[in-house]
Amino acid sequence: MVNFIFFGPPGAGKGTQAKLIADEYELIHISTGEILRTAIKNQTPLGIQAKQYVEKGELVPDELIIDMIRNRLNSYKNPKGFIFDGFPRTIKQAEAFDKMLEELNTQIHAVIRIKVPDQEVINRLLNRAKIEGRSDDTPEVIQHRLQVYRTNTEPLIDFYKKQNKLYEIDGVGTIEQVNQRIKQIINKFL
Ligand code: AMP
Repeated sequence: MVNFIFFGPPGAGKGTQAKLIADEYELIHISTGEILRTAIKNQTPLGIQAKQYVEKGELVPDELIIDMIRNRLNSYKNPKGFIFDGFPRTIKQAEAFDKMLEELNTQIHAVIRIKVPDQEVINRLLNRAKIEGRSDDTPEVIQHRLQVYRTNTEPLIDFYKKQNKLYEIDGVGTIEQVNQRIKQIINKFL
């Protein structure tokens, strides 16, 4: 099993790129944001608990997210590998994740950090708001999500650097250009 994390702020292009790479390399794409949005829409117990956090741009509590990932990982037979998009987002999630993968006799092979300047991220999210109408893409919630990213999620850069798993790419360019940059890293492992 070969596992990747696509890392970066909201609007970096993690979801778009994860879908393309997962299709091409037959990996399973796990987006915690998408799982939560579906759960909220279907009013499942998880969705009902998560809604208040997602709408405000706050992080959903670690325990809920870790359980959700554990359930997902156990639901596939002989997967070739996974791309995690939007997870982990806190040190606590990353530590629990390392343990979980160890129990499954696997690990994270590479964390691909997609780097995009702040202003570009804000422009992309405002633009996406017009197209997709996500309730957490309003200007106020966008600002808050970026702040949450800086405070809670950016420390993971050092966490994975210390494990020698961090790969950084420039996320500015066309979807195809960024895709090629990511593939150069993926190809080292597959
Ligand atoms: P995303 O689609 O990745 O931008 O996620 C949308 C929202 O879902 C976030 O603003 C959080 O409220 C919630 N969320 C997604 N992934 C996580 C996670 N790993 N930990 C906590 N909350 C999350």
